[in-house]
Amino acid sequence: MDSYEVLIIGGGVSGAALFYQLACRTDVSRIGLVEKHSSLAAVNSHARSNSQTLHCGDIETNYTLEKAIKVKAGADKVVKYAETQPDCDRILFRCPKMVLGVGPTEASFLRQRFTTFREHYPHMRLLEREQIAEIEPAVALVDGKPRPEEIVALGSVDQYSAVDFRALTKSFIHNATNVEGKVTEVHLETKVLAIVQNVDGFTVTTNKGELRAKAVVVSAGAHSLYLAQQMGYGMEYSTLPVAGSFYYTPKVLNGKVYTIQDDRLPFAAIHGDPDVIKEGVTRWGPTALVLPKLERYIGGTTTEFFKTFHLGVAAVMLRMLKHPTIRAYLIRNVLFEVPGIRRRLFLKDAHKIVPSLKLEDLTFAKGIGGIRPQVVDRAKKIMLLGEAKINPGTGILFNMTPSPGATSCLDNAEKDAALVLEFLSR
Ligand SMILES: Cc1cc2nc3c(=O)[nH]c(=O)nc-3n(C[C@H](O)[C@H](O)[C@H](O)COP(=O)(O)OP(=O)(O)OC[C@H]3O[C@@H](n4cnc5c(N)ncnc54)[C@H](O)[C@@H]3O)c2cc1C
Repeated sequence: MDSYEVLIIGGGVSGAALFYQLACRTDVSRIGLVEKHSSLAAVNSHARSNSQTLHCGDIETNYTLEKAIKVKAGADKVVKYAETQPDCDRILFRCPKMVLGVGPTEASFLRQRFTTFREHYPHMRLLEREQIAEIEPAVALVDGKPRPEEIVALGSVDQYSAVDFRALTKSFIHNATNVEGKVTEVHLETKVLAIVQNVDGFTVTTNKGELRAKAVVVSAGAHSLYLAQQMGYGMEYSTLPVAGSFYYTPKVLNGKVYTIQDDRLPFAAIHGDPDVIKEGVTRWGPTALVLPKLERYIGGTTTEFFKTFHLGVAAVMLRMLKHPTIRAYLIRNVLFEVPGIRRRLFLKDAHKIVPSLKLEDLTFAKGIGGIRPQVVDRAKKIMLLGEAKINPGTGILFNMTPSPGATSCLDNAEKDAALVLEFLSR
């Protein structure tokens, strides 16, 4: 039976970042990582599943200044890491990015935001119509003439804005498994079935036998809560899985163009951007569709969803449905999946970014888009935004990682490594 000081469950970007952190930046000498799929980053950390954005907080209008600064610190760690890697140009991508305000209310909101945010974001620029037209002609012009509405944007021109989180995952694993004098092992196609705590650590039962570890960190995406609840932890939470679909058009944008978040809605507004793994297209989305599954386009996760289901989730859904704006938004997002009408409906939203887009340009991106495992507080019947961690204080941690979990991977890995080291030193 293999035995480790620390065993990590989940080979997405979160698990890989911790694997790297422990192997390359601490003196922990025996580390294992298990992943149930046959390749790394096969679920939400795959470039086809997420929006590929390095969230810095400058163009995400759903973030407060406090949250934006926190997220930026995590993003800076990813940049600092990737810049030292020989394959940096396969991990991080420079491109223009902006959040677009359309109409006087949104324009004045962005002008105001610029005054508050600029000192924390030295590269941030307030972009007027002419500058938007230089960077993104399709946003500012229709048939070569200015679009009729007032437009303003906040953004930057040549910062690292896009990430292939799968390439980042592979880079972490490559570095961790090449540290001399340490045991750093990756077990693919190894599904964790149960975790049991003993007097001197944990026994982890997998489809390929048992593994032992003094400490365990579960970074299994939507399955983290499922595994926690098997051990009786995190019973105060449930998962609300929100799938995000995408659409493609031929390339009309040079960089990322986000729209302003309607703060009555719990999910980020759509954006358009280049796809880091598919050349010559602009990718649009993500939509927001509640689905009873823990992993999208992968069979067998509906039963697992219902094992973590609680009436508190239904209460959260009912509360959202009572709110007319949220109800309309959720229904619209269901319709974004219905062949025959979905393209026409989505086109209306995409027109806010590129007014000249045509229906024949738009195709539904089949098999693209992951599931955000939003965490629901059962007792308070509210949906928590962002990541959550369960730390029972017994040497095991569980990470739940909706967006911007991938951007925060190194920041979170540092926190987990500190908790693990503290536990191992007891
Ligand atoms: C539509 C969408 C858009 C997003 N856009 C962005 C974005 O632009 N920027 C950003 O920062 N974040 C974004 N996110 C969030 C981001 O994708 C996640 O935060 C991140 O990928 C989470 O990484 P992870 O390693 O925690 O989880 P995952 O990548 O899901 O990895 C978990 C791993 O655990 C494995 N696993 C599960 N159960 C078991 C088991 N029993 N045994 C063994 N292995 C197991 C899975 O197979 C999987 O490989 C987006 C998410 C979605 C869905």
